[in-house]
Amino acid sequence: MENKKIAQLLFPDVTMTAEEVLAKYPKRSLKEGQIVTRFAPSPTGFVHIGNFFQAFISYNLAKNSDGIYFLRLEDTDRKREKANAKEILYKALETFGIKFDEYQTLDGKDVGQYGPYVQTQREVYYKVFAKKLVAEGKAFPCFCKKTEGKEDVLKQRETKWLENDACEYDPCRDLTYEEVKAHLDNGESFAIRLKTKNKGDERIVFNDLIKGDIEAKANAKDIILLKSDGIPPYPFAHAIDDTLMGTTMVVRGEEYIASTPAHIEIFEALGFPLIQYCHNPLICKIGDEGNRRKISKRYDPEANMTYYIEMGYPKEAILEYLLNMINSGFEIWRKNNPSLHWSEFKFKPTEITAVAPLFDIVKFNDIAKNIIATWSGEKLYNAWLEWARQYDQNLAGILEENPQKFIRLCAMDRDGAAKPRKDIYNLAMMKEYFKYIFEMPQVEFEDADKDNAKEFLKAYAENYKEASTNEEWFENVKTLAGSLGYATDNKLYKANPDAFKGNVAKACEFIRVAITGQKNSPTLFTIMQILGEDEVKERLKV
Ligand code: GLU
Repeated sequence: MENKKIAQLLFPDVTMTAEEVLAKYPKRSLKEGQIVTRFAPSPTGFVHIGNFFQAFISYNLAKNSDGIYFLRLEDTDRKREKANAKEILYKALETFGIKFDEYQTLDGKDVGQYGPYVQTQREVYYKVFAKKLVAEGKAFPCFCKKTEGKEDVLKQRETKWLENDACEYDPCRDLTYEEVKAHLDNGESFAIRLKTKNKGDERIVFNDLIKGDIEAKANAKDIILLKSDGIPPYPFAHAIDDTLMGTTMVVRGEEYIASTPAHIEIFEALGFPLIQYCHNPLICKIGDEGNRRKISKRYDPEANMTYYIEMGYPKEAILEYLLNMINSGFEIWRKNNPSLHWSEFKFKPTEITAVAPLFDIVKFNDIAKNIIATWSGEKLYNAWLEWARQYDQNLAGILEENPQKFIRLCAMDRDGAAKPRKDIYNLAMMKEYFKYIFEMPQVEFEDADKDNAKEFLKAYAENYKEASTNEEWFENVKTLAGSLGYATDNKLYKANPDAFKGNVAKACEFIRVAITGQKNSPTLFTIMQILGEDEVKERLKV
């Protein structure tokens, strides 16, 4: 009775009952095996690859089970919120093709029957259940202030609890109705804490689909359910939201394993059945000292999903790389099914890797190269142009001026080639990679080659006529090289190198360096065709 009176004193405006709230969220009618899962990010203005990894796992689990995938914005931490955070998040999800069955639109409309899909719009529900728990004696108001002295006491209590691994009850847990009233009459604000029923030596076991059964110390702390501003910290919000919204599987980062015992006690206090957990490992990197560490927002540009957009990576590259990390079987599947869409690869929660996967940029770039190698010249050109319009307007202007030339460049050694060249892994690298197309190259020959290069290129320029096939082009070079004392037969050259100025490969190298400034490049004949006869002649004047 006393507890009921305290609850009413604390929440006089909360008139809805828990039963009424539960009635608003009827149980979802699901077919056997259908999974309802969600992505529940805090909009911080930064989409971390680890969060995206989790979003992608849950997306696949929902889709593979023909289930439901929803987005819940966990925006209760107002300190962490940044302007445009929602837009940045939505843009990243959209770019990578993550679609939700239920969510709130950017302009605030709920799509789905289990909303609102934004936590700050659900505050009344948290209060209803907090009031219920107080009325049942399972929770209580705490008037401890964060004044200096008090904060020290709270801190000490916290560390003591951690050190001793024993329970520590809050001093406010047994306040009487009169005491509560006195605090309130005094104008004091309060938090709501769970009155843990544990004593500190209990252990529990819970199941995780990725890690298996986990044994842990039971919660034995009067944790906060509602802060003094009425906002719930993660555990209470999680229990209420995931229950009301009909989540059947909670996919989240393994950093939540440590606090799961507290979540379990909250579920029990609320009388809610526990939801199946699926804690995914965190993505790691090898640090500078060879150590394995979590991929970090601070040190690793590739921790930010926006990075992949800005660098113009094919979106499938990151998705396929993440699938590789989720389940090592993906790599073999991809080899055996080179033309299938990644979404044809199905995996079960129990098949998700339990060990932290390593992010390896070289491997990732290889995946990106393989994907771009399958694109037509036109597709690559269009992607490049679209990217440039956003990130390099000057380049976009140049690309737009001469589409045929640049489509040809993009198609070079790729379109229709039996073994397409695997050299480009993102759009941001292309201007530098093809810099000889945009500007006169810096030409430098090795000292030993200087005179021969000059002589050969002069003769080549004098006779230069654009060839119409690669073979014709090569024949021309070969004939000229032969007439100037270069070996046209490599066996002869190898047997007696001193008898020649070099071989045909050397002559080709001179042309390549004059035209591109590099010793390696895609097919020189095509590059020269793209540049056109006048430009080629200009470049041959070294
Ligand atoms: N807002 C939490 C986070 O971003 C959600 C965790 C969860 O998925 O339950 O870490």
